[in-house]
Amino acid sequence: MSRSGQAFLATLTRLGIGGVEDLLFELPLRYEDETRRVPIGALSGGQTSLVEATIELADIRYTPRRQLLCRVSDGTGFLNLRFFHFHEAQRGALQRGDRIRAFGTCRMGMGGPEFIHPRYQVFRAETLPPLRDRLTPVYTRRKGVGSKRIARLVETALELLRKGELELVDRLPREHLSGWIQSTLLDALEHIHAPPPGISPQDLSERLTPFRQRLALEELLAHAHSLRKIRSEWIRTRSFPLTIESGALDRFMTSLPWRLTAAQLRAWQEIARDLERPIPMLRLLQGDVGSGKTVLAALTAFVTVQNQGQAAVMAPTELLVNQHAKTFHEWLDPHGVPVRSLHARLTRKERREVLEELGSGLPCVVLGTQSLFQGDVAFPRLMSIIIDEQHRFGVEQRLNLADKGSLRPHQLIMTATPIPRTLAMSLYTGLDQSRIDELPPGRIPVATTVLPETRRSELVARLPSLCQTGQQVFWVCPRVEDTETGGGRAVETAWGELRAACPDLRLGMIHGRMDSRERQRIVEDFQAGGLDILVATTIIEVGVDIPRANVMVIDGAERLGLLQLHQLRGRVGRGTEGGQCLLIYGPLSPEARARLEVLRKTTDGFVIAERDLEIRGPGEIWGTRQSGGLSFRIADLFRDRELLTLIPETVQQMEAEHPEGVAPLIQRWLGTDLRYGQA
Ligand code: ADP
Ligand code: MG
Repeated sequence: MSRSGQAFLATLTRLGIGGVEDLLFELPLRYEDETRRVPIGALSGGQTSLVEATIELADIRYTPRRQLLCRVSDGTGFLNLRFFHFHEAQRGALQRGDRIRAFGTCRMGMGGPEFIHPRYQVFRAETLPPLRDRLTPVYTRRKGVGSKRIARLVETALELLRKGELELVDRLPREHLSGWIQSTLLDALEHIHAPPPGISPQDLSERLTPFRQRLALEELLAHAHSLRKIRSEWIRTRSFPLTIESGALDRFMTSLPWRLTAAQLRAWQEIARDLERPIPMLRLLQGDVGSGKTVLAALTAFVTVQNQGQAAVMAPTELLVNQHAKTFHEWLDPHGVPVRSLHARLTRKERREVLEELGSGLPCVVLGTQSLFQGDVAFPRLMSIIIDEQHRFGVEQRLNLADKGSLRPHQLIMTATPIPRTLAMSLYTGLDQSRIDELPPGRIPVATTVLPETRRSELVARLPSLCQTGQQVFWVCPRVEDTETGGGRAVETAWGELRAACPDLRLGMIHGRMDSRERQRIVEDFQAGGLDILVATTIIEVGVDIPRANVMVIDGAERLGLLQLHQLRGRVGRGTEGGQCLLIYGPLSPEARARLEVLRKTTDGFVIAERDLEIRGPGEIWGTRQSGGLSFRIADLFRDRELLTLIPETVQQMEAEHPEGVAPLIQRWLGTDLRYGQA
């Protein structure tokens, strides 16, 4: 490696980026086209474009919010640039007669087309510098490093790789995949980070497909290899064969408020069989939202404690931990099974007490988020781990298992992400799988209605009478800021409006910037029936179960993907009354329209996942999503299903012919998240 290569790597390290691979395998979120200018007269609403014009005026206005308004023209029309957040100096720099280059999303306002918070540059000279000759990638900010900075780093990295001053090994066994690989790794990365101009956003996704697939294939291979390694290590270890005493189990089952469905029973039998064996269980449990996975976690925990063991239940959010804690107490307290939870509201002293109990080997169930299980927690009698809605395997390594010798706890991973069985099979070879393929009886499908924004006030006017009948309403706002264009209200705005419109209703609001205790208090209040409407950001997405809340309003539904909408909708209609889902939408792209249509027609998670793939919008090139236990950066189990069929054979070939490449491949894609092999 050359000196400049080394200097570059040192820069990355300083910024907290773990190397060239770490930098380059983080793909752009989307692209902006700054390669051509659009005449103002040709702008259309909703489109993002670059405009070159002359400044006519720049003024601070109060209409009604304080804002900086800059009016520009280019001979084909006038355009308003609006800024709600600005510095005084900014206005001074916008001088009448100067040239300006502005990049923004056009909205048709009262006074003609406008850009809200555009990116711009002012020029004194008549002739402007040339436009960019590549599409501009936009990256997710990482650890304080912004998109622009990342873009420059990526550019430098690609240049150094081209000159051979840095190295990136191509790890695909090309001889076996020749029909599939049409480019080198470097080519693929260059196309993806700096696509050539002249491609419309619609075509971009298609043009980048072979390059994307090139990377997706590597990623899928890396995952498959690592799962194999985990598995082979797994079956070499021993676990605690648990005894299932049928009398106690029956008593527990009959004490539940309902009987298990046939699907739940089937899944339980599969789990129970694993638990009785001296080999650690490694099972993935799939079931749509609301299918009733929690009780299987409880059964596993119950049996574990009956065997004098400790069971750890991990959930992704505090909200869920608290909800599970409530459910587990209800179900397990009557049977004398101790339930503990490591939530953020514990005082130091309380936490220490729980840790002491755990450390002393008290047979119990412990609930917490992943972070709460790190570091100082010891479980001398940990016999089973249940992971709810998490997207990572191998979590057991994070637990303090030092004293365990070679005995491994059983592991159950629960997920609502729908993956067709055949797909799951090719990737998770060797991983045991169960699924709950029916919903508890008596569920009436949630009635879904879509409403244009113009009918929002009508809906708001209906709220008081809805709530008088005892209904509770989730009002979810996907929009983050009021300054964004498009439909929906940001959470605080919606809350203010609803409060003004329904003064007699009890409203609560939760959002991510809030203290987690405060948030929890409000959710509990809602759960207990103390609130009529819970106005929230999408943080309530995962797993919250409030049977009395039967109405879900999504304010700005066009902003969310299908699976997200499906998850949200799954929050209601869990009681015996049919739920209602009301989707308020703003201006619709054709994809957004198609998405809402799908939701109106079906409640089947698998169908929705399929359709989601077919109707991704042009901006959604990567659109990676969580896929049942694995989270991918690039690959998508639905879109890349063809590639998946290549995986089992390719994995074997690599192991036979290029065994030395396996570990670096896993390292490249999965870093240290997944430990593989003991060595
Ligand atoms: P998920 O699979 O989304 O985690 P939950 O375990 O939260 O689903 O269950 C959803 C709701 O269904 C809960 O209110 C739960 O009490 C209820 N439930 C679970 N199993 C049954 C069943 N067999 N019969 C009736 N209701 C059930
Ligand atoms: Mg759940």
